[in-house]
Amino acid sequence: MRLILLGAPGAGKGTQAEILSRELGIPTISTGNILRAAMKAGTPVGIQAKSYVEAGKLVPDDVIIGIIRERLAQEDCKNGYILDGVPRTIPQAETMEEMGVEIDCALSIEIEDEVIVNRMSGRRTCKDCGQTFHVVSNPPKTEGLCDSCGGELHVRKDDAPETVKARLEVFHRDTEPLKLFYAERGKLKCVENQNTIEATTAVIRKALEI
Ligand code: AMP
Repeated sequence: MRLILLGAPGAGKGTQAEILSRELGIPTISTGNILRAAMKAGTPVGIQAKSYVEAGKLVPDDVIIGIIRERLAQEDCKNGYILDGVPRTIPQAETMEEMGVEIDCALSIEIEDEVIVNRMSGRRTCKDCGQTFHVVSNPPKTEGLCDSCGGELHVRKDDAPETVKARLEVFHRDTEPLKLFYAERGKLKCVENQNTIEATTAVIRKALEI
């Protein structure tokens, strides 16, 4: 299974990607997580990306393509992968197509902007491994600590309400056109966001026939 998860920031792509990744035994590739790790480590890519990420803007396509090229060449991607948050622009999708990156399905999680703004205010992210939680709908077992690695949970800088609005604008302008791009290739499937994580996983499973 070579899957792209499409959807606005906060649609639940990361959460669903982790669930599907465990079930299908294939890795999730999240450019957001890779960029945050690079920023934390202070690598050249991290330094280049920081101002864009923190302002809710998209990192330049060539930086993203470099990351994807390197990551998809790794051994664990041989049997499939879940792309979370990439491609995010038509040029990224075109370049990936030219590179020969195979895609079976682009699955779009549909959700209203209003629901997202509310949801993002409760999101907590692990400083160490990037796993996400929600104070109401998906709380960690111990408040403030990551279930997976015990790392400290925090509010991502780009989850601040003003930045979320900027990210939604970017999504509608630059990323949403990807739905048509993949529909034209017969690869697009859409599911509606549901009230719970489990219910959303169920509609995704049905759409993917898994
Ligand atoms: P995410 O965790 O997917 O919401 O990504 C967080 C931020 O990382 C985005 O707001 C962008 O600044 C940057 N980013 C992640 N993936 C991409 C991408 N494919 N293209 C451009 N910027 C990206």
